[in-house]
Amino acid sequence: MSKIKVIPCSGVGKVLGLLARESVLKVTQEQLPNDTETLCLAHVVTGDDEVVKKIVGARCITMDGCPKYCAKKSVEAAGGEVEYSYKVPDFIKPHRGEDHGTGTYLTEDGWKFVDELAEIMVKTANEMQEEVI
Ligand code: SF4
Repeated sequence: MSKIKVIPCSGVGKVLGLLARESVLKVTQEQLPNDTETLCLAHVVTGDDEVVKKIVGARCITMDGCPKYCAKKSVEAAGGEVEYSYKVPDFIKPHRGEDHGTGTYLTEDGWKFVDELAEIMVKTANEMQEEVI
């Protein structure tokens, strides 16, 4: 069975984009490396052959940095099946007032928020796996 694709937006220059990217890397590289993988959004958008082969019809989770949903829209346009679309602002309410860092670095609170976002995606990916068993 192919791995679930977990794809963040590119949100360069915004802490919300960095939170999205780091949380996806945590899921795909540290927590569920055997069940999930990520793909470069730029390659998704430009239609890189290898990436297109992987994404068409694939089960995907996206994590965007804002309501523009660049990751969700790009993955769908490339033929991926976005089963769960998240955006960082959906989870920020309990973190209001915290300093998460900038577009290039995260504070301790930022990394804690990354852990929380990663946990949400890990739970989702595990539930998706259970659906097919
Ligand atoms: S979803 Fe928002 S933060 Fe992410 S790349 Fe698009 S505009 Fe930037």
